[in-house]
Amino acid sequence: MAKTIKNWGGTVVFNPKFVRYPTSHEEVVEIVKTARQNHQQVRIIGSGHSWTPLVNTNYILVSLDQYQGVETLDKANCTAVVKAGTKLKLLGELLHAEGLAMENMGDINVQSIAGALSTGTHGTGVKFGTLATQMLEITFVNGLGETVVCSEHTNREIFKAAQISLGALGIITKIKLRLVPTFKLKYVSAKADLDDTLLNLDKYKQENRNFEFYWFPHTKTVQLKLVNKTPEPPKNVGFAKKFNDVVMENGLFGFLSRISRAFPKVAPRISKISAWGVSKGTYINHSHLIFATQRLVRFYEMEYNIPQESFINVIKEIETCVNEHQFKVHFPIECRWVKADDIMISPASGRDSAYIAIHMYKGMEYKSYFDAIEQIFRKYNGRPHYGKMNTLKQTDFAELYPNWQKFMDIRQQMDPDKMFLNEYLQELFVQNALQES
Ligand SMILES: Cc1cc2nc3c(=O)[nH]c(=O)nc-3n(C[C@H](O)[C@H](O)[C@H](O)COP(=O)(O)OP(=O)(O)OC[C@H]3O[C@@H](n4cnc5c(N)ncnc54)[C@H](O)[C@@H]3O)c2cc1C
Repeated sequence: MAKTIKNWGGTVVFNPKFVRYPTSHEEVVEIVKTARQNHQQVRIIGSGHSWTPLVNTNYILVSLDQYQGVETLDKANCTAVVKAGTKLKLLGELLHAEGLAMENMGDINVQSIAGALSTGTHGTGVKFGTLATQMLEITFVNGLGETVVCSEHTNREIFKAAQISLGALGIITKIKLRLVPTFKLKYVSAKADLDDTLLNLDKYKQENRNFEFYWFPHTKTVQLKLVNKTPEPPKNVGFAKKFNDVVMENGLFGFLSRISRAFPKVAPRISKISAWGVSKGTYINHSHLIFATQRLVRFYEMEYNIPQESFINVIKEIETCVNEHQFKVHFPIECRWVKADDIMISPASGRDSAYIAIHMYKGMEYKSYFDAIEQIFRKYNGRPHYGKMNTLKQTDFAELYPNWQKFMDIRQQMDPDKMFLNEYLQELFVQNALQES
């Protein structure tokens, strides 16, 4: 019987005819070759944490959940070849045991490494690129069943396309990562005023290794997250951190969110209560444990990358828009920074960037809010996070990315039969897809 698959946000539900769990690169090659002979569509899923319809298919879904772990490790040069299905949590633990770590991560650790890299997942910090900039070499199986190995030195154009490729070039099986020696981070959570934060933005960004803030709409309150390297011993890592993560940031916030969903009119007041209750504290632990937070409250999310220099104007326009429309939203707006890269269709390609993410509690009306804010993002040449909700079409992407056509050409070369394209990806990557269908 066909298995029903649902993504984390509940925005994508589908019934693939077959779900395959290969345990080796060779098995992946076999799956692709057989599917090609039989003209069957194949999609690849990581942990299903994207909101956009990237992984859905009615035919073959490939999961690398049974292909996890570190294959080889080079401690002297701080590199590792990892199996593409490895979940970030496991990866963090395996690397830590060997004295290594990823230099930067996003704010959860349940994604697969290939899934996270393939959508341009990022953390924060002006000195760090998206996670895909940590890739040194990629091995994937293309739509012809061929094994392609690419890096900065071998098949460079293909590498620059494959680093962020939404599973549209093939199935990534192995990734060589650039790592750093294990390190500890001190995370300070503090409350501040939005206007003061904007005034001191450059200082915060430059003086902290990983800086971000959450702004509570309908208020002037922000939660600052100031994260820096430290030699100090772990602090507040046991009960205190768990209490903050599970009870304050999830339990209590989940309770307030349910009230907001039942009575949307009170959402602005709930945002004010959440702002009032911003948790202050200092936590010290190994990097992979500090980066990762728990997200037990489900929500919808839209996140755009904008040029760093437009950040203050965009935030001010969002503030005016929220106040004018009085949107029924209580989720904070998350603001992060990422260094420019040279990956073909990376949202941060060619520009130092800020990322602004807006959220709505699952089950609440989100469209009017997301549409209004998306217009502001677009006015400032915003580029959406590929895994998060947006309304852009191929023509919009082609305007935003000078190399969109080049990516489409490489995709065509890697998968001429469009085996890896579902309807959504056809629309993004195949010229005249709308007329063809
Ligand atoms: C609660 C939550 C918190 C988040 N936090 C952040 C954050 O801090 N920063 C951020 O930038 N994003 C964040 N995201 C977004 C998330 O990181 C991305 O959507 C990411 O792609 C999800 O990884 P996944 O393993 O679930 O991949 P999926 O969502 O399952 O897949 C994503 C894409 O990767 C492709 N893919 C997966 N495996 C392979 C493979 N082996 N070969 C080729 N293609 C493959 C899929 O086909 C698909 O196109 C968050 C999402 C959630 C739900």
